[in-house]
Amino acid sequence: MSDHQEVIAPDQEEQAALTRDEVFEIRRRHRANIPDLHNGAYRRLWDRAISGRDLRAAIRGKCQDCMAWQVPEIKICTCVACPLFPYRITGRKIPRPAKSVSTPVETP
Ligand code: SF4
Repeated sequence: MSDHQEVIAPDQEEQAALTRDEVFEIRRRHRANIPDLHNGAYRRLWDRAISGRDLRAAIRGKCQDCMAWQVPEIKICTCVACPLFPYRITGRKIPRPAKSVSTPVETP
């Protein structure tokens, strides 16, 4: 077993051992910590995301959570290595990289 597995494995075992009630309680506490702003909009978005049926809400909800519900911060996020970066809601299109002239790869 590698060092990485030794660190990760206990958490995975704990997660697998969670009962349905424990999962419900963890989610209830998380939801209670979401700011009750904009007439509950953040909590409603989280509800849609956690339902597992709205991928767009999941992306938006994760970005809001990441930026502590400071929505304008999502637009100026600079974490280009984040897997959600290309999908975050910015209100603008992400510019595509300019097409480059491909150079032939030399083969031996
Ligand atoms: S794209 Fe930016 S705001 Fe969204 S989750 Fe990633 S780091 Fe956070």
